[in-house]
Amino acid sequence: MRWTIAAVLVLAVVFFVGARSETIQDRLLDKGLTVLLTNQGHDMLEQDALRALLCGTSAPLPHASRAKACVAVFAGGKFWLVDTGPGSWNKLSLIGIDPTRIGGVFLTHYHSDHIGDLGQVNMQSWASGRPEPLRVFGPTGVERVVRGFEEAYALDNGYRIAHHGADFVPPEAGKMVPNTIADMEDGTQTVVLKEDGLVVKAFNVDHTPIKPAVGYRFEYKGRSVVVSGDTAKSSSLIAAAKGADVLIHEAQANHIVRRVEAMANKNNRPRIAHIMNDIISYHTSPAQAAESANEAGVDLLLMYHLIPPPQVKAMEPIFTRGLNKVRDGGWVLGDDGMLVCLPADSDAIEISSRL
Ligand SMILES: [Zn+2]
Ligand SMILES: [Zn+2]
Repeated sequence: MRWTIAAVLVLAVVFFVGARSETIQDRLLDKGLTVLLTNQGHDMLEQDALRALLCGTSAPLPHASRAKACVAVFAGGKFWLVDTGPGSWNKLSLIGIDPTRIGGVFLTHYHSDHIGDLGQVNMQSWASGRPEPLRVFGPTGVERVVRGFEEAYALDNGYRIAHHGADFVPPEAGKMVPNTIADMEDGTQTVVLKEDGLVVKAFNVDHTPIKPAVGYRFEYKGRSVVVSGDTAKSSSLIAAAKGADVLIHEAQANHIVRRVEAMANKNNRPRIAHIMNDIISYHTSPAQAAESANEAGVDLLLMYHLIPPPQVKAMEPIFTRGLNKVRDGGWVLGDDGMLVCLPADSDAIEISSRL
């Protein structure tokens, strides 16, 4: 026992002295920088699978570690973002992605928790060396959103060109190109993109009174992922998700929202109570998301855009209360950094974490 205590004391002294040595500090710094600078997530860009990464699982309510709505889909050697919620670009950088390999952005609708980082996504990927303008797909309204972000970032854009030179950051490449998806009938799908073996289809969802609002289906090498965006339980989404491998669906625990409303009233916070009452009807409860997954016949239901976002692990069973009665297994509550890998021409679904 005496030897153990002595060993701990010696290690403590070595660590204490070492941490104060500038040589050792610099070595540790170089090691950390090497990890950061070489972590480009190129394995996620391998063309042997369709992959989906959760880069934001929260919604407007605050959370210390979850970013707002964002899903990155990897296919054909590029990645594509479904929504760019606040904090999502930071998450993608922490996870390690090569910003120059962005193919484009698909916006589901224009609530701030879905678009807040669009300016960051454009500026950061351009400053990192993206060679082409950024394509931004979305329903009617995308042009206005894109032009607004471009205007807000116009000064920043000019600073960087003046500072680094137009050869290093070509002005043309820093632009965004909006692509408007024509209005659709519920229950139909529009092919938005066909590129490098990837097919992306858009479909209406039910986020009433917010219109238009869409979700997206990604198909690549015999595998498929559907992303809901914001919606109440939607027959149009169920039709579009038929037979998909993975349904990434928003979820709002209405039983908790009702309690927040009641407690807000009790604590004299009428605005919070008012908003809680308003949001009940235009999102999907975890049990309803499970019904949709069952009706569409998907293998995995992955929930994101969590309202309210579980603050601690102990909150998760409260959040998903009632879900197992509808769907016994085949579902996962999403977290930032979660990666789903669907190997080409296979039934396998591999889940891991990149954070
Ligand atoms: Zn939202
Ligand atoms: Zn919304």
